[in-house]
Amino acid sequence: MSRFFSRRYSELVPYVPGEQPRNRRFLKLNTNESPFPPLPAVAAAAAAESGRLNLYSDTGCTELRALLAERLGVDPDELMMTNGSDEILYFAFMAFCDEETPAVFPDITYGFYPVFAATCRVPFREIPLGERWEVRPEAYCPAGGTVFIANPNAPTGIALKRAEIERILRANPDRVVVVDEAYVDFGAESCVPLIRQYGNLLVTQTFSKSRSMAGARLGYGVACRELIRDLNTIRFSFHPYNVNRLTSAAGIACLREDGYNQENCLLIRRNREWTAEALRGMGFMLTDSSANFLFARHPGIGGKALNLALREKGILVRHFSIPRIEDYNRITVGTREQMETLTAAVRSILEEKA
Ligand SMILES: *Cc1c(COP(=O)(O)O)cnc(C)c1O
Repeated sequence: MSRFFSRRYSELVPYVPGEQPRNRRFLKLNTNESPFPPLPAVAAAAAAESGRLNLYSDTGCTELRALLAERLGVDPDELMMTNGSDEILYFAFMAFCDEETPAVFPDITYGFYPVFAATCRVPFREIPLGERWEVRPEAYCPAGGTVFIANPNAPTGIALKRAEIERILRANPDRVVVVDEAYVDFGAESCVPLIRQYGNLLVTQTFSKSRSMAGARLGYGVACRELIRDLNTIRFSFHPYNVNRLTSAAGIACLREDGYNQENCLLIRRNREWTAEALRGMGFMLTDSSANFLFARHPGIGGKALNLALREKGILVRHFSIPRIEDYNRITVGTREQMETLTAAVRSILEEKA
């Protein structure tokens, strides 16, 4: 730390993203990216837009927002585009939390939430997951602060039913409830249809996981007009040009061929069930994942040990050094071929150990 670094941030512990190796060619199953590249039309749209990079981007993402709003069945005023969904989550911490209104989220969830709270300098409270790693809706009724729930949750993959989220919404009429749906397209119920019924609901989604665009950084929030207006106040006080021209053009092309993304989600779900069964057959315990990853532990080998053994074999999966879940690894679901490589490597590691 230099002597110039603000004392406000001297205690800040930044988020640690999953590794993005540059030298060795690993099979990357550690950051929940899509194994499927975007369609050529997506790259072509970005390339066609590149001749206008001398001009600032449209702060309203007008065309993209209109198209997405139509797909979601909402009004464009009920939608805001952001630089990945991390950005809208950060805006939500800024807009809807303060000294009197702490952020409230599960103890095991997306690692960015406590970091956002620290950066925004707002207090936060963690509510332990249940014994089977489930989010317990009753523990949030009421929550006593702004609720952040990833649904499906990460890294457990377990989803709440829409009716259970509604229970939380009803029990917290004077607090915002943020539902982070980064993984919703892999098999959970979206809360987007509820935004007109609940003025305290903000749903966030992303093009990163189910639409093969993690590297483009495109996310969004869906909520009633008033909440979107508040979030725009924050956005225009921070970075009005938050979505660049190339990403916006790519996003439009991606949505026009959304059937491709939906088919890919189906493939991932099928591969997830295939892999889960293969791992269970080897003695693994798994949570019931509705996401594009599995959360798994084996009674015969520690989480860290398995992670390192897989790394030796050229496969990256994610291990969290959090005592409660240190026996587990989070494994991104990829193509069937990638999953065959993974399960073969796991099998040989277990055999070597036995
Ligand atoms: C990946 C992820 C996000 C955000 O990803 P972006 O690439 O910023 O859209 C948000 N929440 C959870 C739970 C995630 O896993």
